[in-house]
Amino acid sequence: MDAAEFRRRGKEMVDYIADYMETIERRQVYPDVQPGYLRPLIPEEAPEAPETYEDVVKDIERVIMPGVTHWHSPYFYAYFPTANSYPAMLADMLSGAIGCIGFSWAASPACTELETVMLDWLGKMLKLPQEFIAGTSGKGGGVLQGTASEATLVALLAARSRKVKQIRSEEPDLSEAQVISRLVAYASDQAHSSVERAGLIGGMRMRKIPTDEKFAVRGEALRRAIEEDKAAGLIPFYFCATLGTTPSCAFDRITELGPVCNAEKLWMHIDAAYAGSSFICPEFRPLLDGVEFADSFNFNPHKWLLVNFDCSTMWVKKRSDIIGAFKMDPLYLKHDHQESGLVTDYRHWQIPLGRRFRSLKMWFVFRLYGVRGLQAYIRQHVKLAKEFEGLVRKDGRFEISADVVLGLVCFRLKGSNDVNETLLKRINAARRIHLVPCQLAGRFVLRFAVCARTTESRHVQQAWQHIAELASEVLQ
Ligand SMILES: *Cc1c(COP(=O)(O)O)cnc(C)c1O
Repeated sequence: MDAAEFRRRGKEMVDYIADYMETIERRQVYPDVQPGYLRPLIPEEAPEAPETYEDVVKDIERVIMPGVTHWHSPYFYAYFPTANSYPAMLADMLSGAIGCIGFSWAASPACTELETVMLDWLGKMLKLPQEFIAGTSGKGGGVLQGTASEATLVALLAARSRKVKQIRSEEPDLSEAQVISRLVAYASDQAHSSVERAGLIGGMRMRKIPTDEKFAVRGEALRRAIEEDKAAGLIPFYFCATLGTTPSCAFDRITELGPVCNAEKLWMHIDAAYAGSSFICPEFRPLLDGVEFADSFNFNPHKWLLVNFDCSTMWVKKRSDIIGAFKMDPLYLKHDHQESGLVTDYRHWQIPLGRRFRSLKMWFVFRLYGVRGLQAYIRQHVKLAKEFEGLVRKDGRFEISADVVLGLVCFRLKGSNDVNETLLKRINAARRIHLVPCQLAGRFVLRFAVCARTTESRHVQQAWQHIAELASEVLQ
């Protein structure tokens, strides 16, 4: 493909994408295919001779689309949203074209510097404490990770390294292995599976803290676990708080937990993967109160802030904590500029070496929506969730299973888990909308998450009518 053809095909692709987005609600939100559907549709081997562009394009509708779950359909209410906007898609095209690998400042200064400034912009939108803002001379600052899972793991490993240093400076006779074998980390029993997984990958003991009737971890519960573990000779070193849990969007009480972590010298990491985007609205910012106690904070603009996957923003108060844990400096990666407020080598802040130019997406989205546009978007989704909650509450057969704070509604038929499982099976088998369940206090619960950018009241109303009709069938 030469530049002339690229120009033509590029414009055609943009048209295809715009058509896809504009007509997405006519597509069935969840595919009908069975496992293994794709292999027979394409050859067993890659082609020896080049094919034509037309050959490839006509296979999009034949091979790919029948097996796509349309996450951006306004009938998609499963999981949590994943972001999608035209400005982000355009920026990603440019990122693909520049195609740099920004592991150090020198490897592509714009890639590093735009990222630092975008993390400052976003940190200021969230009114993060000043220590998290890099500025030109700050000790803290932000970094883009691919996912919240990586942020949780990076924080855990940095916490481990900091605790080992601290203990060995107090008790020089202890070996690193002896300290590590006694470390214990904590998270809510409602934390995302990636938190437990960070413990597995990091080889760290991880203890789940029981939650209260609102599915939130309280300060007292963490304090009790720490006391027990210290009495048993363990060394508590890390607590991962969740703001906006995946099952029910519950909020750990970080104003209580933060002082406990600080007093006990635990690293407090905050995982606000979904809810974090809402903190740009003054009315939701109180949910983040207590962040001043945290060592690191993370959320996913790629969930709810219109920046397409992958874009997970992480801030630390002390960049030296992270760099201290991961720094490696072979000669081929060295350059003349020392790490400072102005020069960041982001490879020390993450697990891989290579990194894409992801901050372009943030820059485009923030400028083309403006803070006001982003706030309006968040508010619209919350409003739709409240509308759905109202519909559920008006139907005496149903109950709401957790406080509706943002864009997620947890609900169920009053009655057995079996009847709710049957209802969910019917909903997903009908393929008109898509939902996933969760378990709350032993109960099978349906989750209705407002996801697509283009969801409107009429979609929510239709979804509810459909659910109510299927419920009548199930209850008969
Ligand atoms: C979605 C979610 C995650 C996982 O996010 P990834 O970026 O896919 O790793 C982690 N924690 C919470 C609370 C989530 O909702």
